[in-house]
Amino acid sequence: MIKVCKFGGTSMADGNMMKRVAAIVNADKARRYVVVSAPGKRFSGDTKITDLLYRCYDEVMQTGSCGEAYGKICARFLGIAAELGIRTDLADILDQTKADIEREKSADFTASRGEYLSARVMAELLGFPFIDAREVIKFRPDGQLDADRSYGLLYAALKGKPHAVVSGYYGEDAAGRVKTFSRGGSDISGAIVARAVMADVYENWTDVSGFLACDPHIVENPAEIRSMSYKELRELSYMGANVLHSESIFPVRSADIPIRIKNTFRPEDEGTLILPTKKYRYSGRTVTGIAGKQNFTVIFIEKSLMNAEIGFTRKVLSVLEKHGISFEHIPSGIDTMSLVIDRDQLKDGALEEVLREIDEAVSPDDLHTFNDIALIATVGHGMSRSVGTSAKLFDAIARAGINVRMIDQGSSELNIIVGVDNENYERAIAAIYDEFFRREENAFGL
Ligand code: ASP
Repeated sequence: MIKVCKFGGTSMADGNMMKRVAAIVNADKARRYVVVSAPGKRFSGDTKITDLLYRCYDEVMQTGSCGEAYGKICARFLGIAAELGIRTDLADILDQTKADIEREKSADFTASRGEYLSARVMAELLGFPFIDAREVIKFRPDGQLDADRSYGLLYAALKGKPHAVVSGYYGEDAAGRVKTFSRGGSDISGAIVARAVMADVYENWTDVSGFLACDPHIVENPAEIRSMSYKELRELSYMGANVLHSESIFPVRSADIPIRIKNTFRPEDEGTLILPTKKYRYSGRTVTGIAGKQNFTVIFIEKSLMNAEIGFTRKVLSVLEKHGISFEHIPSGIDTMSLVIDRDQLKDGALEEVLREIDEAVSPDDLHTFNDIALIATVGHGMSRSVGTSAKLFDAIARAGINVRMIDQGSSELNIIVGVDNENYERAIAAIYDEFFRREENAFGL
């Protein structure tokens, strides 16, 4: 039995937390390979090491050398080493890291040092060998992960090693320079290691006991999700349920490796188990979870007989492509089509340009935009089993007096997305939750 365990920033925040992590790893012989994040926040208002490192990079670019931010980073790591009483000559490693940061002058390299340093400390604490992600996680010239090469290198590096600590968040690009994943990317590193050693389970240790059915800032005490499928995870995490990086699913999914989300503060809690879609068992609930994102712009296009006009969608989408803009959804009707786009991509006059070019390309009868739209995804395999799910969903939103601006139900019957005004975002989520979790529970005695 092989478990790969990834510990997030809160789990690595100080010496005390690292001791907890060591106790968790030592409590189960199957926990053989450990992937770590950089130390995160110790309390609200604290600064993550990764954020300090990005600040440090700005200082280096302005003055040529590490300044105040690096001083804070050193103080935190030296504090951790003192708390743990470890022998590694961390002061020397920190001096060397400073010189490396000043020489490399790269944001990715600088940011990666948080994981590099925390993995070295953790390796010493556990008495496991340290594996530098730079040696084993590789990116292709187009910037994408070179998955097969990374699995091969990791397999070779870990073969014959009963245990190891691997640094999260980064790897090496085709030019031999350190490259990071997007923020929160240590989750992806953990998944890559799990896939490389064909782990029986990928344990992702964080500061909550798994996924909740919706944001606890919106609904008090929402239901915990005990298990879900990879597909549900993908939909929910893409739409903002941020327990796990949305891309971390790909490496493990290709090998049917389950993911278990665990809480470092409450290791006895079951957490959430994420299973290959084919092994997923119907939980009895219609909806597994609800998630959402705000601040979209919808470009609405109407033209009679749009459906009969060959190449219509291509012409519209090539305008977006030309401007390097990606879209989130394109719900369409017979004569209508909406482009849902993250508002940040349409800044600095880009929206006006795009509208002008769409007008020119397809001469629509009507072309206008809605701003400040929030998308809410209601996700669950159970939806395809129950009749009337969308009716219930829209009824719940209507009862709350909220106007639905857009609807998109994927062909999978796994996810219904509704667009509402930003200002109705929280109320709409609460109404949907109430419908599927409270009313349904009362009706079925779940
Ligand atoms: N330390 C990085 C971040 O803060 C990566 C991670 O923790 O997964 O985003």
